[in-house]
Amino acid sequence: MTATLPEFIELRDTALVCTACRLSETRNNVVFGVGDTNADLMLVGEAPGKHEDLQGEPFVGAAGSLLDELLGGIGLVREDVYIANVLKCRPPGNRDPRPDEIDSCKGYLREQIRMIHPRVVVTLGNFSTKLLLNTETGITRLRGQRFDWWLEATLVPTFHPAAALRGRPQVRDQMAEDFNLVRSILDGPGESNGASSDAEPVQSALELNE
Ligand code: URA
Repeated sequence: MTATLPEFIELRDTALVCTACRLSETRNNVVFGVGDTNADLMLVGEAPGKHEDLQGEPFVGAAGSLLDELLGGIGLVREDVYIANVLKCRPPGNRDPRPDEIDSCKGYLREQIRMIHPRVVVTLGNFSTKLLLNTETGITRLRGQRFDWWLEATLVPTFHPAAALRGRPQVRDQMAEDFNLVRSILDGPGESNGASSDAEPVQSALELNE
């Protein structure tokens, strides 16, 4: 972690009492994130669902079990990584996040990424991918690729686990392929992330210089 633990705890404590958007009125718990703040790998989902809202932890429902399986496939357990969402509070009825809610919340995610400073960021599904890559391109076209990103991290977009649970069986296989790509990046040289591309780092919509 590049920041100090007290800084990170201060960020979490601020988020836990956040009232910046309407979701604070209906949430049971703020789901800030969980895992190793020194992790090389960070996973970013969309927003807490019913179970996450009740327990205050991301990906504890069925989608979380699949995520655990995918991590296991590359020799990791959830305690090895850091898991967060774009939104820290549950949208009622699991509706899609609204643009103003994402705007209100994205500073927490930006600071989490800055402080944890992972080598690889995996975006799970359209919402986190579009926000972190600042793109309108859908996940089906972007998955399976690696992008040189902010803070010299490599970003790998993949499907949301919920899409694998309700979609075609190939989605799960493609997610496993994407996690294998993550494994190969983590196993590559540290500082450069093993990236071979000369491309400019991709700008995100997190307003990184704020
Ligand atoms: N879906 C998400 O995107 N995040 C969670 O924490 C749970 C389900």
